[in-house]
Amino acid sequence: MRHVTLPSGRRVPALGLGTWHMGEDSRQRTAEVAALRAGLDLGLSLIDTAEMYGEGGAEEVVGDAIQGRRDDVYLVSKVYPHNASLIGTVAACERSLKRLKTDHLDLYLLHWRGSYALADTVAAFERLEKEGKIGGWGVSNFDINDMAELRRVVSASPCLTNQVLYHLGSRGIDWDLLPQTAAAGGTLMAYSPLGQGDILDNPALTKVAAKHAVTPAAVALAWVLRHDHIIAIPKASTLAHVQANASAQDLVLDDADFAALNSAFPPPKKAVPLGMN
Ligand code: NAP
Repeated sequence: MRHVTLPSGRRVPALGLGTWHMGEDSRQRTAEVAALRAGLDLGLSLIDTAEMYGEGGAEEVVGDAIQGRRDDVYLVSKVYPHNASLIGTVAACERSLKRLKTDHLDLYLLHWRGSYALADTVAAFERLEKEGKIGGWGVSNFDINDMAELRRVVSASPCLTNQVLYHLGSRGIDWDLLPQTAAAGGTLMAYSPLGQGDILDNPALTKVAAKHAVTPAAVALAWVLRHDHIIAIPKASTLAHVQANASAQDLVLDDADFAALNSAFPPPKKAVPLGMN
């Protein structure tokens, strides 16, 4: 199983589980909990959620899925920008913990930049860390300029990750954010690594998948995971999808595969603004 080492030194699984759109329909709850538990069984023991998803509903689903196995999970949630004041961040975290039925998050992220000063949000993260309510903090949807601004904020503990849009069909960060993050010893967490399913019927992708006798989803994930500082968090709500995604952990793409994928999904030729879902 592949791992990524965070700037804190903690090793986490390179392949995790997303939860956007979970917890929106109570009739799906049993299946969603089962899909997450199946993912944990297959070693995808990093779960990404947010107070935004299903307005707390996804965190409740995750809370059910991790009951009895909290210690096996690296748990990530996110604060809404409009809650990310000094006081508001702490209160939002406490609400998330209640829904997740746990006393701590492993990682807490600012979901995207809002109007509160970064220094206030970071100070709140550090307070939560000191109280043992979070293990570390990070950001999401931060482009190069945002990361430069964040570096000017004084903090005792480092930003552990930047969660950004990254998949074969949206690879603008290959130009700058990705190499800069690697050079600085940071990590990225790739969201929508399957392009929300939209890239999976691409002929080049399906050809590489057929060659390795795996699904296009496994190839798309193995492509994201080709860097040792990137974590991918595909969301799957069926057992078949979870199993297909887990198989990416053992898939090694060769030079011919990368060449075929580069030709179907060309890398950027200049800087482009960070994409967002
Ligand atoms: P994604 O993981 O790229 O794609 C999810 C879609 O792909 C779902 O429709 C899923 O269907 C389908 N799928 C999953 N596995 C598949 C497989 N093996 N074969 C075919 N289809 C498959 O998109 P995402 O949910 O947008 O991104 C992943 C996670 O990143 C989110 O869930 C969330 O945790 C996080 N995220 C963060 C941000 C942010 O701003 N920080 C933004 C977007 C997403 P089923 O559900 O039917 O299995």
